[in-house]
Amino acid sequence: EHEAALKVADQPAVTLDGHHVEIAANIANQDDAEKAVKMGAEAVGLLRSEFLYMERATEPSMDEQVKAYEGILGAMGKDRPVIIRTLDVGGDKPLAYLPLPREENPFLGERGVRIGINRPAMLRKQVRAILKAAHAGHARIMFPMISSLDEFRAVKKLVLEEQEKAGVTVEVGIMIEVPSAALLADHFAKEVDFFSIGTNDLTQYTLAVDRGHPKLAARIDGLHPAVLRLIDMTVKAANKEGKWTGICGSLASDPNAVPILVGLGVQELSISVPAIPVVKARVRSLNYEQCQSLAREALTLDSVEDVRRLTA
Ligand code: PEP
Ligand code: MG
Repeated sequence: EHEAALKVADQPAVTLDGHHVEIAANIANQDDAEKAVKMGAEAVGLLRSEFLYMERATEPSMDEQVKAYEGILGAMGKDRPVIIRTLDVGGDKPLAYLPLPREENPFLGERGVRIGINRPAMLRKQVRAILKAAHAGHARIMFPMISSLDEFRAVKKLVLEEQEKAGVTVEVGIMIEVPSAALLADHFAKEVDFFSIGTNDLTQYTLAVDRGHPKLAARIDGLHPAVLRLIDMTVKAANKEGKWTGICGSLASDPNAVPILVGLGVQELSISVPAIPVVKARVRSLNYEQCQSLAREALTLDSVEDVRRLTA
């Protein structure tokens, strides 16, 4: 089965009734990008830019950043868009040269885009590097952990200023990984170019369960009906404004979740590189109309157990 999937990995993922779902890769460096192309990725739905910043003693220079992005954009080529997520540290991810105060609740603290908003020079440098590298391929920018419109407007303003200086424009999207962002998706949809749902954090914050908790982590299941409702709201809000929605959390490569996510109308699944051929094969085995009724039914259920039973 795996071998059969590999043979047709370069073919698009189209359901039996002709509905295309874009299959993209979650990557962390240029090596991953090269593998992603070989495995049939149509895009990069999430480049975790942390790789540039972690395990070093000083902030990467402008030159280093530009070169790294150019390498990745070039490896993917002009036809495969690359969503570059701005630095997403804090919480469980520390940075050696960036002293962050100890916090009682790091996951509810200075994390994701909040770090960049509080250190605009660092964020501006990253945005400038992305715009400088954009000629090498098709770059998009995405902000993590957005929880209110004023945060998005602040970083969008910064991007617009840099775009003006650089004479380059790229699409700008946000991660939907905090429940408040999903709940306000209708407002966000008017101001962003796309959404990408981070189901790892969205589930953690919706269910109030630490995603790495040794005893509770088994309860972190993005098929929880509360999470599905937030995904549904997000997709509908995006569609209303002619925007698209992807999923870049690990739920996107769960074989039992794929039919529901496709049925909810998610347009892009961004997954780890090795999972690409299998998820493409899974999508090809589905009927979109059936997925839509499955998703409708899942939204009526009251427990994750029932949703799991429905999709088993
Ligand atoms: C997520 O939260 O689902 C996500 C994709 O981001 P990360 O796992 O890097 O927090
Ligand atoms: Mg996240």
